[in-house]
Amino acid sequence: MTDVQHEKVVIIGSGPAAHTAAIYLSRAELSPLMYEGFLAAGVAAGGQLTTTTDVENFPGFPDGVGGQEICDLFRRQSERFGTRILTETVTTVDMSSRPFQISGESGTNCTADAVVLATGATARRLDIKGCRDGEYWQRGVSACAVCDGAAPIFKNKVLAVIGGGDSAMEEAQFLTKFASKVIIVHRRDQLRASKIMQRRALNNPKIEFLYSHVVEEGKGNEKLLGSIVVKDLKTEETREIECGGLFFAIGHEPNVKFLNGQVDLDGQNYIITKPDSTETSVPGVFAAGDVQDKKWRQAVTAAGTGCMAALEVEGYLEELSDGVEEVREAQVEGEVDSAESANGGNTIVFPIGEAEGMTTGNKL
Ligand code: FAD
Ligand code: NAP
Repeated sequence: MTDVQHEKVVIIGSGPAAHTAAIYLSRAELSPLMYEGFLAAGVAAGGQLTTTTDVENFPGFPDGVGGQEICDLFRRQSERFGTRILTETVTTVDMSSRPFQISGESGTNCTADAVVLATGATARRLDIKGCRDGEYWQRGVSACAVCDGAAPIFKNKVLAVIGGGDSAMEEAQFLTKFASKVIIVHRRDQLRASKIMQRRALNNPKIEFLYSHVVEEGKGNEKLLGSIVVKDLKTEETREIECGGLFFAIGHEPNVKFLNGQVDLDGQNYIITKPDSTETSVPGVFAAGDVQDKKWRQAVTAAGTGCMAALEVEGYLEELSDGVEEVREAQVEGEVDSAESANGGNTIVFPIGEAEGMTTGNKL
C-alpha cells in the first residue's frame, strides 16, 4: 500500500450532487478527489443532465441553460477551488477496514478517510422500435416528464406515459398542463400507484388509460414523433394512435452495483440515509443525490444533498482528527485505555498523517 495515494475525502460521481459536494469540500480546503466516471452506468461524466437539452428550473439561469453547459459549469466551479477530477469509473470500494480503499477501472487506486457516494440513478428506458438513440429519443421520446414536458414540441399534443406507478400518475398529471390529452399506457389492468395518486389521475378529465397495452413502435416525420403503435395484450390487436410525446415512467435504477451490498439499500436498491442526514449505514460513507432519493430526483435537490454531504464530511473528519489527537496525547501520557473509552470504545484502523503514514495504520 506504500504507493497508494491517501485522500481525506473521495467523491464518486459527477452530477449536481457530486459537484456541489466538491465545491463545498474544496472551499473547506479538504482537497477532494472526484472520480467522475467514464460512461459509468451508460451516462457521460456530468450525469443525467448531459442527456437533456434545456434546463429551465435550476435557479440562476433565467433564460434556461443547456444540459451539457450546466454540467461544464459545475465542473469548472469544482476545479476552481482545487477539486482534482479523475475521468474514471470506480469499480470497488472496500469498506471493511479503514481507510476505505477505492479502485478505479483503469487501476487508479487510493485510500480515503471519508467517501461521498453521488453516483445517481439511471432512468429505465424501453427498447422500442423508433424510440431509440438516433431515432425519436429526445425528439418526442423522453424519460423525464418534469424535465422535458414544458418544451414547446409537446404543447397541445396528445402525449403518452408508459407505466402504472406513482411516477406515471404524477408525470401524467404534470403533462396535462401542456397536453391536449394524456394517455397512460400500462401493461397490466391494475395500477401499482398509491391510491391517492391513482385517484388524482383517474379524476383528471384530460387523462385516459390504456390498460393491458404496450407500445410497440414510435413513428413520425423526419424531425419529431407523431404517433405510436400500441398492442392490446388481451386481444393481441395492434393499432396506431396519434402521439406527439412518449414518456417512460417505469422506474429508475440507482447506480450501486459497485458497492457490492456494503451499505444498506432499500427494497428498490436506493441507498438508505439517516433521516435529515446523508449518513449511510457505514460511518464515514455519505450518500447524496438520486442514488439515495427516489422521490424528488431533481438537479436542485441533488445539489442540496451534495451540500449536506460535504458539511457532514467536514464534521466527520474533524471528529476523526480529534480522536487522533486524543490518542496521540494518551500515547504520550501512556493512557491509551482511557482514549479508547473516550472514543466510545470503537476500534477503527486509519492512518495518521498523509500518504507516507499509510503503511502503519494506527489502531484506536
Ligand atoms: P447524476 O446526474 O445521475 O450523475 C451521477 C454520475 O455519476 C453519472 O455521470 C454517472 O455516470 C456517474 N457514476 C455512476 N457510477 C459511477 C461510478 N461507479 N464511478 C464513477 N462515476 C459514476 N432535473 C432538473 O432539476 N431539471 C431538469 O431539467 C432535468 N432534466 C432531466 C432530463 C433528463 C433526460 C433526465 C434523465 C433527468 C433530468 N433531470 C432534471 C433530473 C436530474 O438530472 C437528476 O435529478 C440529477 O442529475 C441527479 O443528480 P446526481 O448528482 O444525483 O447524479
Ligand atoms: P414503480 O413503482 O416501480 O413503477 C414502475 C411502473 O412501471 C410499474 O407500474 C411497472 O409495471 C411499470 N414497468 C416497469 N417495467 C416496465 C416495462 N418493461 N414495460 C412496461 N411497464 C413497465 O416506479 P415509480 O413509479 O418510478 O416509483 C418509484 C418509487 O418512487 C415508488 O416507491 C413510488 O411510490 C415513489 N414515488 C412517489 C411519488 C409521490 O409520492 N409523489 C412520485 C413518484 C414516485 P407493473 O406495475 O406491471 O410492475
